[in-house]
Amino acid sequence: MSTDNKIVATMPQLPYSLDALSPHLSLETMDFHYHKHLQGYVNQTNNLVQKTRFENSSLVEIVKGAEGPLFNNAAQVWNHTFFFEGLSPTPKKAPTDRLKSLIDYYFGSFHQFVVDFNKSATALFGSGWVWLAQDSHDRLMLLSTHNAATPLREELNPLLVVDVWEHAYYIDYRNRRADYLNSIWEVIDWNTVEKRLR
Ligand code: MN
Repeated sequence: MSTDNKIVATMPQLPYSLDALSPHLSLETMDFHYHKHLQGYVNQTNNLVQKTRFENSSLVEIVKGAEGPLFNNAAQVWNHTFFFEGLSPTPKKAPTDRLKSLIDYYFGSFHQFVVDFNKSATALFGSGWVWLAQDSHDRLMLLSTHNAATPLREELNPLLVVDVWEHAYYIDYRNRRADYLNSIWEVIDWNTVEKRLR
């Protein structure tokens, strides 16, 4: 790209090193996921946005307004950034206070929430994401989205996401998506999730 090209997507600086989530997510998995998959989406977004009406837009504006390949790549940048930022090698392992109350109310208990979440993630056919989101009436819900689709388009406030594309787990877990899902809770940081509550 020439120097006057617009940059709308950038790589997030992660608050942990790529080997820090092992053994739940290995260095090899994180290296491929961050440096190959996410970097590819960032590069493609910046390539595709040139000379479009979105070239001076924010990433969120592109995710909310674009269609086709530009939407797919921009949404994948946003979704991955949100996913990686929700992980920690020293996570808070369960919600407390207001988020705990909301989860207990809408799912029965934190344990039941994890069971329901994993069931949705196991049932998602093909590539996608499973989300915990909050609507404008403070209701919590689970959502499964296919490919790059994201609750940002539906005016929902995403709180938590798990990547269930095969590239998220295949190096470590091969075809055993359920094992990946059981393990991912060891590195999901409820401190970060709680901060996203409106
Ligand atoms: Mn991914």
